[in-house]
Amino acid sequence: MFELLQQRYTGATPLWGITRCDWLSLAAPGRMPVVAVETSQAPSIRSVDEHRRLVAGLLGPTPVEYRPLAAARGLVLAADLVAAVALPPFDNSAMDGYAVRSVDVASARSQAPVELPVPEDVPAGRLDSPPLRPGTAHRIMTGAPMPPGADAVVPVEQTDGGRDRVRVGASVAPGTNVRHLGEDVAAGSVVLPAGTVLGPAQLGLAAAVGVGTPPVRRPPRVLVMSTGSELVEPGQPLRHGQIYESNGTMLAAAVAEAGAEATMARFVPDDVAAFGERLDAELAGVDLVLTSGGVSAGAYEVVKDVFTDRGVVFSKVAMQPGMPQGAGRVNGVAVVTLPGNPVSALVSFEVFLRPALRAAMGHPHPSRPVVSVALSETLDSPAGRRQFRRGRLDAVHGTVVPEGGPGSHLLGALARSDCLIVVPEQTTHVEAGEAVEVWLLEG
Ligand code: AMP
Ligand code: MG
Repeated sequence: MFELLQQRYTGATPLWGITRCDWLSLAAPGRMPVVAVETSQAPSIRSVDEHRRLVAGLLGPTPVEYRPLAAARGLVLAADLVAAVALPPFDNSAMDGYAVRSVDVASARSQAPVELPVPEDVPAGRLDSPPLRPGTAHRIMTGAPMPPGADAVVPVEQTDGGRDRVRVGASVAPGTNVRHLGEDVAAGSVVLPAGTVLGPAQLGLAAAVGVGTPPVRRPPRVLVMSTGSELVEPGQPLRHGQIYESNGTMLAAAVAEAGAEATMARFVPDDVAAFGERLDAELAGVDLVLTSGGVSAGAYEVVKDVFTDRGVVFSKVAMQPGMPQGAGRVNGVAVVTLPGNPVSALVSFEVFLRPALRAAMGHPHPSRPVVSVALSETLDSPAGRRQFRRGRLDAVHGTVVPEGGPGSHLLGALARSDCLIVVPEQTTHVEAGEAVEVWLLEG
């Protein structure tokens, strides 16, 4: 006879190493227990690459929208941009001077100038095109349309600058100082392919061919939340036991620097109800909730407590710093929980979120540039964990210098760094002079 026990267990504290288990069926006494466990338990430790894939998978490509050029800087074109007009759109003068027929000034020398009447003044923006009669010159400005009949421009410096008549002191070959229709961009051609990042030059080109609202992938909207009863707003008085909140500012800046849009929820104390309320109030309208703190092994781990039953999986990731990580979806919204120590938080952002956010925006190069540089001094790294040390490039000696120790609270050292030194899982020691992988954080 079997006695069937059905139990449900969900909780933050592991029960026999199981963090979540839907049904347990136990056999009768004297028989081998049959344990049917459906579990959403995370593996005890994940690799950096596994967690990176998990986070990247939470953020699909963002929707395409047409944005005014002024709001499109740094975004990625979602479709080829076709030139509605040629560049230049018409033959025009490259200089301030006089539009002439080159044959009329063929004999001109500084000692023997050719004098021509000047019937027309052609500033940039003049819309009619007064033709040039043989034996005359039109005064013309840079960017003004070439008069029909003219084939060259004599720069004003090679003339006496006359208004009614001009003395031309040099000959010009046909085509001199003329910018030709379509010599830069042909009408109807693809000027910027899909996937182009819109920097100043690309935005300028889009404007020049008449595109005012290019199609781009919308930046992901990220809600940055911090928790901790010890946290105080910078600028307020600090009591013993309190610290200034810094992760929110830091992560919001990192989100913006990655090209996404950050809103910062004012940080909440270590209170499950308060955190849950705040979350529910903000969840709609964001693509990603990014928290820091409240996910390690202590008590008062608010983030863990709120999210464990709401679809976020917490696990250890084989890295230093940044071991406790969480990721999942809550009501369809991506949630990534970063550890609270500031260095862990920013390094985790670099490793997991920056590439994911940029990939979601269609960025062709989601990751930081990676180079191989000789290490300035010896360095130790824990076995089985990928270490991300903060570093500074020494251009004089061609080395990378570790900045501060491995401690994940060393924000001062982080702020002096311009790169991350990456030591693989299986490496426990690197000698001075050995090449290491370096992620460039600037430029
Ligand atoms: P926790 O994971 O919440 O235990 O936090 C780990 C460490 O990071 C503690 O020393 C916290 O005080 C610190 N910390 C957590 N959140 C923040 C924050 N938003 N700003 C600055 N330090 C923080
Ligand atoms: Mg905390």
